Amino acid sequence: MNIRNYPRRDFLKKAGAAAASVTLPVWLSSCSPNNKGKTITPKKKKHIVTLSFDDGFKKSSIKTAEIYEKYNLSACINVLATGHLDSFEAPTEYLKRGGKGDFGLWNELKQRGHEIMPHGYKHANKAKMPLDEAKGLIMRCLDYFADNLDGFKPKGAIFNFPFNASTPELESWLATKVLAFRTRGNVINALPHKGQVKLTCRGFGPASSEQFVEQRIEELLSKDSGWLICCVHGLDGEGWGPMRSNFLDKLLERLSAIESVKVMPAGKALAELSLEKSTNLNYKG
Ligand SMILES: [Zn+2]
Repeated sequence: MNIRNYPRRDFLKKAGAAAASVTLPVWLSSCSPNNKGKTITPKKKKHIVTLSFDDGFKKSSIKTAEIYEKYNLSACINVLATGHLDSFEAPTEYLKRGGKGDFGLWNELKQRGHEIMPHGYKHANKAKMPLDEAKGLIMRCLDYFADNLDGFKPKGAIFNFPFNASTPELESWLATKVLAFRTRGNVINALPHKGQVKLTCRGFGPASSEQFVEQRIEELLSKDSGWLICCVHGLDGEGWGPMRSNFLDKLLERLSAIESVKVMPAGKALAELSLEKSTNLNYKG
């Protein structure tokens, strides 16, 4: 049947019946402005949860990926271009502890469906250096990723600022280089939409980040919709503001059971939105 002539109400009913396998485009389409004033869709709650794991600790990243795979989910892992090199000089005590993964591991995890995104060339605070120097480091980081991470393209990347530190000048320049960037700000973002280039987050540390994450999730679920982006680090004592692997496991189990919630890495959430747009175009007739 031609999808243009397919009654939308029935289509969504069928899509709802198959909720377990519903794709993000369909899931988001009921809140699209394109549907305003048209027919049908009862307002449904929609929540995206992105736990954005920074710094690329080897042991934590492997464990994180395994836990996400248990629930058929993709982890969001942000790594340094040079963290694995002997020449790397960690700027904080927390970064010093724990070995970092190399691009052999990052390629393997990417191959397994996880998202590996840049978190800087050497974890420098780009808000505390001349603009040109900050731009240079970001370009070196993106070039390193392009050379070492299979299939990496800057225009499809989320650049996760080290220390979540950016400046307005750097942000407007970077917006032309990558798909989006992540910096400090409100943890609850608007649902993925066209032109959304600035993603904001917060983290908690140096003690356990578990309570912080729990509270932010509660905050998200109290709203009709939103995209929670929490900046987190390692597992089981590794990194700034760690969480226990058992906590992550139970959290993903709980979130997977909530119909309104999608646990997704940031780039995937944004990329799938462009599909949502083209899907809607099909309905216009
Ligand atoms: Zn970091």
